[in-house]
Amino acid sequence: AVEVRDLHKRYGEHVVLNGLDMTVTTGEVVALLGPSGSGKSTLLRGINHLEDVESGAVLIGGRRIGYTDDGRPLSPTKVAGARAQAGVGMVFQHFNLFSHLTARENVAGPLRWVHGMPAARAESRADELLEQVGLAHRADALPRHLSGGQQQRVAIARALAPNPRVLLLDEPTSALDPELIHEVLEVIRGLAREDGLTMLIATHQLRFAQEVADRVVFMSDGSVTEEGPAEEILTRPKHPATARFLRIMG
Ligand code: ATP
Ligand code: MG
Repeated sequence: AVEVRDLHKRYGEHVVLNGLDMTVTTGEVVALLGPSGSGKSTLLRGINHLEDVESGAVLIGGRRIGYTDDGRPLSPTKVAGARAQAGVGMVFQHFNLFSHLTARENVAGPLRWVHGMPAARAESRADELLEQVGLAHRADALPRHLSGGQQQRVAIARALAPNPRVLLLDEPTSALDPELIHEVLEVIRGLAREDGLTMLIATHQLRFAQEVADRVVFMSDGSVTEEGPAEEILTRPKHPATARFLRIMG
């Protein structure tokens, strides 16, 4: 499970997260909705400890990433290992692939560097994952020779390679041309059906959210304003901010 407790984050004077509380239970698929600038990316980065927060805590499987058991911050060199140990993977809007590495190396690299897996095993694991996302035939390609949809599928394979328990996806299709969105959503749909994988997906794709998410969490002004079953939130919003957002998106 992912537990976010009273999270506060500001950039200078600008308060982005204002005491945000949220829990995602094990195996649950949650869609995170909210207007642009409402703090979805900041929250996801905070959960994965890619961003420092002012106060509050994030617990993954009951433990805080980035801190020792007695609450002292880990040195930056140890955080990647801690994140790996917590079993959190992340997929970004702009893919963030290593541009000088092939698809296979993008997936295998972190398994070697972060997880200390021997090269041959990491590469066969990479090939397995590329197969799963339909890219076995492009394993030797560099990112710039792949379409956006293919690059994002490599990024998903990379995030899945260490067998995460929690997968965070930050608008995984919003940088894609409309005709490429489908192939990425299809892969994510497949993951959502898998047992035990906890997913938190920031997205502007309402129909997709309704289809894959067990629950929708709506954020505005730095906290959760409404949450519940997708069907209910998307068709009968109670909070004015949700209703306004849905009118604009709809
Ligand atoms: P979108 O739907 O457009 O992706 P979002 O909900 O992901 O929006 P965030 O990216 O989390 O929103 O940003 C929340 C607010 O924090 C915005 O007002 C943004 O301008 C601000 N912000 C984000 N990152 C920084 C930063 N590094 N420095 C200063 N302000 C930032
Ligand atoms: Mg964002």
